[in-house]
Amino acid sequence: MSRTLSAPVTVAFDYTRSTGPVLGRFLTGLRDGVVVGGRTSDGEVVVPPPEYDPVTHAATTDFVEVSPTGTVASWSWVAEPVAAQPLDRPFAFALVLLDGATRPFLHALDVASPGDVATGMRVQVRWRAQRTGAITDIECFEPVTDQAAPPPGPRSTLDPVTGVVTPVALDYTYAASPEESAFYRGLAEGRVLGQRCPTCAKVYVPPRSACPADGTPTTDEVELSQTGTVTTFCIVNVPFLGQRITPPYVSAYVLLDGADIAFLHLILDVPADQVRMGMRVEAVWKPREEWGTTIENISHFRPTGEPDAAYDTYSQHL
Ligand SMILES: [Zn+2]
Repeated sequence: MSRTLSAPVTVAFDYTRSTGPVLGRFLTGLRDGVVVGGRTSDGEVVVPPPEYDPVTHAATTDFVEVSPTGTVASWSWVAEPVAAQPLDRPFAFALVLLDGATRPFLHALDVASPGDVATGMRVQVRWRAQRTGAITDIECFEPVTDQAAPPPGPRSTLDPVTGVVTPVALDYTYAASPEESAFYRGLAEGRVLGQRCPTCAKVYVPPRSACPADGTPTTDEVELSQTGTVTTFCIVNVPFLGQRITPPYVSAYVLLDGADIAFLHLILDVPADQVRMGMRVEAVWKPREEWGTTIENISHFRPTGEPDAAYDTYSQHL
């Protein structure tokens, strides 16, 4: 058995952005299968249109439809694409000067090898079959074929695009320290394990490897009580994507009996507006067959019904 535990972690959320009228016009065009640029006060045609004129700083109002065909101005080879890039096989990122534009536009170019791309080559947009008003409506560029790209269909009668949803995700591997690993393995046995500092005798849960107060390595393992006291808390009223519990509910710091540091968990089985500082609570575990090496083995904490703890008993742990 490995000394330490590790687990994949994904932090992800959908970033919602309003486009404003200028980029909204560009994205509405993509949904309709046309590429819209903006003409600036010095006569440049820029794709996507800039929101404000680079010289006069006035809002862009002069929109120009440019050709979906153009010329490669510069390119860079992507030998090992990563997740969420435009193509899942090697490809080029290319600056393409679309016919009718004076500034190049960046997108992926689908060619098999670096030998198949060159500055000056003619390329065309490959449209995605199902378009939603996003930059990904252009699947990529491809070398111009004899067969001309199909003309755009009739303009959509849908409302103009005013917003885009951009998924953001970060995948990483969390590696627990040996002390944390012991904590997680304890949880898999239904125990809550901390460590005591040999210098100041404070008990930390989860264990920190060293005492944050005096730096002494912590080695003495302590099994903690599964009852404790709410020190501080907040009532979650805001719904969000992926939320497992319907608001309002309480997220609280719980100081387990015998510990010197509180940890964060849910307080359930009680109306949110009845949770208070000093409330005595106990751990509620999930069914045994659902346990793993995770704090989620403890489903939540619930009130024990005991009288509230005196403020002095936890005032040093807020
Ligand atoms: Zn210490």
